[in-house]
Parts: sequence; structure tokens; C-alpha cells
Amino acid sequence: MSEPSIFTRILTGEIPSEIIAETENAFAIRDIAPKAPVHLLVIPKTAEYRDVVQLAAGDPALLAEVVSLAQRVASEHSDGDFRLVFNTGPGGGQTVFHVHAHVLAGGLDEASLRG
Ligand code: 5GP
Repeated sequence: MSEPSIFTRILTGEIPSEIIAETENAFAIRDIAPKAPVHLLVIPKTAEYRDVVQLAAGDPALLAEVVSLAQRVASEHSDGDFRLVFNTGPGGGQTVFHVHAHVLAGGLDEASLRG
């Protein structure tokens, strides 16, 4: 069995990070290295899907739940407008292979395009 992902370890409390919102199947935290005034991560509780392509193919309802939670946290932490980024694959900047959405908000500049 592979090691639990860093996000699974946050979900189980092994690594401390405040869970700022959750639904039945997804949760949100603040990014530890923010690239925008508001930089949140929305993460399925399951680590089954490594990226958004797998998630969309395997469980589109869960992808919709992630998008819905992103909208909710963007409203709660900023004005409700946001950029949603799924880095996909190492060449796309992905470093954690447990699918997650970056929610960027609160005054964006070009640097935040990198997620
Ligand atoms: P990726 O590069 O895979 O798209 O995004 C992974 C994100 O997870 C990065 O933006 C990184 O800053 C964030 N991250 C990595 N480790 C931790 C952690 O322990 N706590 C939190 N809150 N964020 C983390």
C-alpha cells in the first residue's frame, strides 16, 4: 500500500491544519504557501483520484461537489469571485497526487495564475 497523501494526513489530524469547511465528501484548508491574498484548497476526502481528469471520469458528482464547496469558501473568505486551478501532472505544476482545487481570490495578479 502506498503512503497516505499529505491531504489524507491533514484530514485524519496527523498533520495540523484547520479544516475551514467541509461537505460529506470534500474539505477545504488554507494553502500553506499562499500565492494570492486568499488561497484555499478544496480536496475530496477520498485519495482515490490523483488528478482532476481521473476525478471527472470516475466520479463527476464528486467533482461538482468540489466546485460547489470552492464557491462557498470563496464567498465566505472573499467576495465570491475566484479562480479555480487544478494543476495536473508534474509538468502542470502538480506536486501532491491527491486531486485538489486551488481557490484563488481576493485580488489576483499574474503570479497567481501558477496556482
Ligand atoms: P499542487 O502543487 O499539487 O497543485 O498543490 C499542492 C499545494 O499544497 C501547494 O500549493 C502547497 O503549498 C500545498 N501544501 C503542501 N503541503 C501542505 C501542508 O502541509 N499544509 C497545507 N495547508 N498546504 C500544503
